[in-house]
Amino acid sequence: MARKACRTCRLITTKSHCPICRGTNLSDSFSGVVLIFDPEHSMIARKLNISEPGEYALNVR
Ligand SMILES: [Zn+2]
Repeated sequence: MARKACRTCRLITTKSHCPICRGTNLSDSFSGVVLIFDPEHSMIARKLNISEPGEYALNVR
């Protein structure tokens, strides 16, 4: 399965819709992958407005 990034919350998923925001606005063109394990204590998560653990794209086109 191809990995895609959600344009709304940047989560990377192999599903046809985003499991976090339920959106279907996915892009297969993304760069910069960051893993968030503990969003509450992660500076990156706070900066990117991430509240759920997971794999996220820094740039989604
Ligand atoms: Zn999403």
